[in-house]
Amino acid sequence: MGDGAERGNAAARRTPQRQRSAGATLTTERGWQYALAPESREIVSIEPEYGLFVGGKFTAAESGGTFETVNPATEEPLARVAMAGVVDVDRAVAAARTAFEQTWGPMPGAERAKYLYRIARILQERSREFAVLESIDNGKPIKETRDVDIPLAAAHFFYYAGWADKLEYAGFGSDPRPIGVAGQVIPWNFPLLMAAWKLAPALAAGNTCVLKPAETTPLTALLLAEVCQQAELPPGVVNVLTGAGETGAALVAHPGVDKVAFTGSTEVGIAIAETVAGTGKKLTLELGGKAANVVFDDAPVEQAIEGIVNGIFFNQGHVCCAGSRLLVQESVADHVVDRLRRRLTTLRLGDPLDKNTDIGAINSRQQLDKITELSAAGEAEGAHRWSAPCELPKKGFWFAPTVFTGVSQSHRIAREEIFGPVLSVLTFRTPEEAVTKANNTPYGLSAGVWTEKGSRILWMAQRMRAGVVWANTYNRFDPASPFGGYRESGFGREGGRHGLAAYLDV
Ligand code: NDP
Repeated sequence: MGDGAERGNAAARRTPQRQRSAGATLTTERGWQYALAPESREIVSIEPEYGLFVGGKFTAAESGGTFETVNPATEEPLARVAMAGVVDVDRAVAAARTAFEQTWGPMPGAERAKYLYRIARILQERSREFAVLESIDNGKPIKETRDVDIPLAAAHFFYYAGWADKLEYAGFGSDPRPIGVAGQVIPWNFPLLMAAWKLAPALAAGNTCVLKPAETTPLTALLLAEVCQQAELPPGVVNVLTGAGETGAALVAHPGVDKVAFTGSTEVGIAIAETVAGTGKKLTLELGGKAANVVFDDAPVEQAIEGIVNGIFFNQGHVCCAGSRLLVQESVADHVVDRLRRRLTTLRLGDPLDKNTDIGAINSRQQLDKITELSAAGEAEGAHRWSAPCELPKKGFWFAPTVFTGVSQSHRIAREEIFGPVLSVLTFRTPEEAVTKANNTPYGLSAGVWTEKGSRILWMAQRMRAGVVWANTYNRFDPASPFGGYRESGFGREGGRHGLAAYLDV
């Protein structure tokens, strides 16, 4: 090592931790730029039109209706997709019923497992194709689809394939039975992953499915339908109905559906609960959240900063369990916010297909409007807004990473789910105050805690009313781990052994 480096290290040893880490920040202010690293979109062939997947075949909607799906990063139309109506819901539910009674229901678990393993392996083999398509249709960065969405989707199929022939050991009796036909409605924030969360446990348990993807992100669900064909899954076991909210409403209300699973907004979740009430259908709801990410003064600051960034800026903040409220101990608040802003200036916003991109596009104009409106409300109510200085592309739907300080608990940005790259910072002095503020929300999906003390982690985890509490990390998912909320975040668990309960007659 040369003299210069020696001198630098010696200087660093004398420099307090805060100043040293601040100086190490890599910023583009010095003129340093990443070279473009675009993933090729050649691997994906997007058809001009897509049909519904019913009874193992792609078919047009009975009404002939279609809608357009666009690339949110460019507003470029991608394809026209069939709009399923009531008659199509009837057809899909009938196909699922036949498959449940004649093939999938009676099939031994070990045989069902083979199909699930096959789907998982095909997802791995075609992972690049899925990753590119997901980024194009959703707007999320390729490094997230490539490293998170698609591997986790495959992992869910692998995991539940393992359960298919072991259901009698899952703790639900010696011969747990499937429920029947599952109607599953999923959102646009993790389109393929949500499909995997819903389909894999349902199929492992012996149910058949009718899946309704979100209107703005239908393409990977349709590619998954193609994978079902490729895996030679018996016709009718999985059906995919693309369409609008009315399609979802018709599906959950259909008398031939035995079990309803929904992920999405609390508002629609409540409407579905009203529809299903009194029908005898089983229901799981995974709804919104307004999670607290709590940082104590003894937390390892650099790690906590990464956790805060991952907590709210991962997937443009379109995450139900996002750490959208940062609760930071007052004594370190200024330092943490300063470090956070510096870190945010290094995030790269832009082309979702570029492998260097950290922040992709907002999924739709409608969602952008909602984020814009709530951010304006934050300013109007007196909070201080800071947005990372990044240039937004001229076309498409974009929102710069934004941090609000001076937020009080009554502000809308501290109470409502923004579902975008917007963080609200609040402070606390004592652990008791942190718990009170963390729990001051109608939601209860997730929370995070950052501290060096193990005993404090346990103390906090026992008191924070959230389905998942992450300690010194955030947004970690694993198919073996149950996930879900309570209060306005919904009920029921997905993932793990618990996720099987929702699809068994127990
Ligand atoms: P929705 O809850 O409306 O959509 C979720 C899914 O439900 C979509 O497939 C949607 O179809 C479908 N759907 C809509 N209306 C009905 C209905 N009456 N019955 C059955 N299914 C229905 O979410 P949005 O996409 O409209 O987003 C609105 C807000 O919800 C966001 O701003 C965000 O705050 C929150 N949200 C929360 C999510 C979470 O995981 N917690 C996920 C997505 C959104 P379609 O797409 O065709 O409308």
